[in-house]
Amino acid sequence: MPLRTLSNFILLPELNLLSIRVFKNKQGFYRCEKVSGFEVCPRCATPSNTIYDHREVEVKDAPIRGKSVYLKIKKRRFFCKKCKNPFTEPVPGIKKGKRCTDRFERELLHACENYQSLSRVRKVFKCSTAYVYKALYHQLELKRRMNLYPWPKTIGIDEHKFKRNKQLSIAEFASIIVDYNNKRVMELVEGKTAAGLAKPVIEDLCLSENSCSEMVKISTGAENTYSMIGSNNTQF
Ligand SMILES: [Zn+2]
Repeated sequence: MPLRTLSNFILLPELNLLSIRVFKNKQGFYRCEKVSGFEVCPRCATPSNTIYDHREVEVKDAPIRGKSVYLKIKKRRFFCKKCKNPFTEPVPGIKKGKRCTDRFERELLHACENYQSLSRVRKVFKCSTAYVYKALYHQLELKRRMNLYPWPKTIGIDEHKFKRNKQLSIAEFASIIVDYNNKRVMELVEGKTAAGLAKPVIEDLCLSENSCSEMVKISTGAENTYSMIGSNNTQF
């Protein structure tokens, strides 16, 4: 049982450890396989226990004690007799087509929120700057969606200058839309014009059953174009 617990800590649930190779460059490769009596076809949900062939995939997992961890998983492909097609078994904790575990992305987000800089995160997790940004924003978006709720009755809009376009020599703005009464950020969009807000905000508001009945323009800038016409009939 202790070995099983340790195996579950290092690997993912339902994976059995076959062998370990640790290199001096602080990389550890854990070869493993999934053990189950049958798998369910993702197309027609028919159970299958007919193994078609095997393939090995390598996915990056969260580092342990500063060492990179790679799971080399020997995956089975099952044959679905109903679809007449093979399918690859899924592994809990790894999304389809991903080259890293969900745990790796969660750890990366934790590091991004707590480390001194993103370049430090990049060094520890041994990945590119582009990947750090991509994974960070993906995780933040998932977090944001978990906390979403229907549009409130009153929203506030404010624009902020956030960078300067050097080619056009103009200031660029971003607009923030907040739940005015509960003081919570609902959406952030680039630009400050009605056209810029149209897709992410107006369409969403029109589709929402709880269309807001009041808009409050927080900014004191005079040139802006926001205005509210009528209850449950949002127009800019
Ligand atoms: Zn099938």
